[in-house]
Amino acid sequence: MVARAARATDLTDLDGAVSDCFACPRLVAWREQVARTKRAAFRDQDYWGRPVPGFGPPDARIAILGLAPAAHGGNRTGRIFTGDRSGDVLFAALHRAGLANQPTSVAAGDGLALRDVRIFSAVRCAPPDNKPTPAERDTCAPWLHREVALIRPTLRVVVALGAFAWAAWWPVLHRVYAIRPPSPRPVFGHAAHWSGTAAPTLLGCYHVSQQNTFTGRLTPGMLDDVFARAKQLAGVD
Ligand code: SF4
Repeated sequence: MVARAARATDLTDLDGAVSDCFACPRLVAWREQVARTKRAAFRDQDYWGRPVPGFGPPDARIAILGLAPAAHGGNRTGRIFTGDRSGDVLFAALHRAGLANQPTSVAAGDGLALRDVRIFSAVRCAPPDNKPTPAERDTCAPWLHREVALIRPTLRVVVALGAFAWAAWWPVLHRVYAIRPPSPRPVFGHAAHWSGTAAPTLLGCYHVSQQNTFTGRLTPGMLDDVFARAKQLAGVD
């Protein structure tokens, strides 16, 4: 699997390869079980039921790093943050920021296009309870590392959605940028910030989960502030 990730020569190649990954037995079983049993509201739909690749242009200056696909969102539609409430919040914010051509993300093929942003997750398969194990995180890391390597020429800012994504970024520094991660590691928080001299700036943002957005822990205004800052740091108009 590591070799397959490393061999990917561009994002199309990488997206195709990751979609065919079966390296984590527990997650393979879960993604396929969810795809078979379905949620009642989607019982007439064919679920994707496979790893979910990144989405966005190859010359992105901003990356959004999430945790993992949602069982009935990305795992259903095959596109990251597509078809669930988290995505509704995220893409509405990206549209307000001028980084998406429409405020909704319903299904692959719905016309959504991003500008200057690539979205991907630390773990590419939907995990039970949204909780991948440390071993699954580490097994999936080569896909993340290769994706960052492929967009490295333009990448300037990474927005980490939640503490899991924030923690997943540090090995990227070593693997992709050949620099030593800071020690101790900077603590995750909303609007937390880390910048090194030879790597993209890292911004923390509470995850766009329903738990955070329904309770008001993460508001649309807070998201707008994060993306305004990301655009400024990345030099995006
Ligand atoms: S989580 Fe990642 S490494 Fe594991 S099966 Fe899915 S794509 Fe492969």
